[in-house]
Amino acid sequence: MSIKFLLFIGLGYLLYRLAKRGIQKKIARFIAPFAPPQNPPPAPPADKLVQCAACGVFVAEQKSVCKGGQHYCSVDCGNKA
Ligand SMILES: [Zn+2]
Repeated sequence: MSIKFLLFIGLGYLLYRLAKRGIQKKIARFIAPFAPPQNPPPAPPADKLVQCAACGVFVAEQKSVCKGGQHYCSVDCGNKA
């Protein structure tokens, strides 16, 4: 094992990595027209959904009406229960 040999191996590995990346890009470009358009990443859940205890509708926790430890979609539902 000489240093030259190790350098040669390292260089070969680098070239391999570069070639692999280049091939992947070419394949991606070739496939792109056939691949379905990428959906935007799903937005992080802004609000936790809670179920209305009266009518069963799901509503954002911040918009829900809290009454007696239960969540309601509206004041009307809260009064009904
Ligand atoms: Zn309701």
